[in-house]
Amino acid sequence: MVYIFLCIDFDRDAAFPALGHKHAVSKKRQTELQDILTDPEKSAEIQGSIEGFDQILSFLIQRKLPTVFYFEARTIDLISKRYPEFLKRLNQSFFEMGAHGYDHEDLIGKETGIPLEKKEEFNLIKKAKERIEELFSTKIIGFRAPYMRLSENTQKILMDLDFVYDSSIYQESDEAIIPYLDEYGAIEFPVIKTPKESLMKGMYTYLWPLFEGKRGIKEIVSNYIQLIHNSTEDNSYISINLHSWHFAYNVEQNCYLSQKEIRKNTEFLIKLITKLEEIEGVRFSTPKLWLEENELLRKT
Ligand SMILES: [Zn+2]
Repeated sequence: MVYIFLCIDFDRDAAFPALGHKHAVSKKRQTELQDILTDPEKSAEIQGSIEGFDQILSFLIQRKLPTVFYFEARTIDLISKRYPEFLKRLNQSFFEMGAHGYDHEDLIGKETGIPLEKKEEFNLIKKAKERIEELFSTKIIGFRAPYMRLSENTQKILMDLDFVYDSSIYQESDEAIIPYLDEYGAIEFPVIKTPKESLMKGMYTYLWPLFEGKRGIKEIVSNYIQLIHNSTEDNSYISINLHSWHFAYNVEQNCYLSQKEIRKNTEFLIKLITKLEEIEGVRFSTPKLWLEENELLRKT
């Protein structure tokens, strides 16, 4: 059996680091005045997720497809205030909720120039976890670092805050993989990057190139099928990773897309999901369900 995890990084529309600011700034707002840039809330744009995720959300709900969401707490907090109905639709028992920073912090300060102190990082991840748990009345166990960048303290902090797993590390592989225990006792669910010399060429299992028009859907589907066919280990997994806003916002062109283009992007993902579902021995799941089924986590 090969598990497929559909992983949605649910953050402000194109979260980018800004020099001198701990919080991310939406790409669209990067040219705003300082008083907007310094405000984590005002510098967050969520239109892309609201407009872009609507159609695929209906599909996921209708199909009851297990999906994991890594929420930037600020974005989901804004949605709860401005679009309470949208929040309600996200609150499904077959969805797993995880955390993705409070304001999409660059934990190591690689591009902001301000690395977070250990205590500050602890407090921010704690605040994010608590806010997301409160909004969905659930306990969250999974974390994905903004920009996929962990600090030297993150894994220890995750353990202290009762997370069970992290999913912020790339692993080169041309087949499905198995999670592993890190030195702090957290389970790591890496994200696959295929080797350059493989049939899939160097492909991150993020759908960024698909939504940016750099790779076609046919190529993506056949690469995932290849990954599945190469898989040898039972109960291994492959994740499909994408951003909530990417159906409605093109980063390179820095523009929002038309309804027709949103529809097209939605259909791309539906096609990928349905093609993979047709393969025998493939099951859509989430890291939490994987842990429960493999008896590494007690069912709650
Ligand atoms: Zn993100």
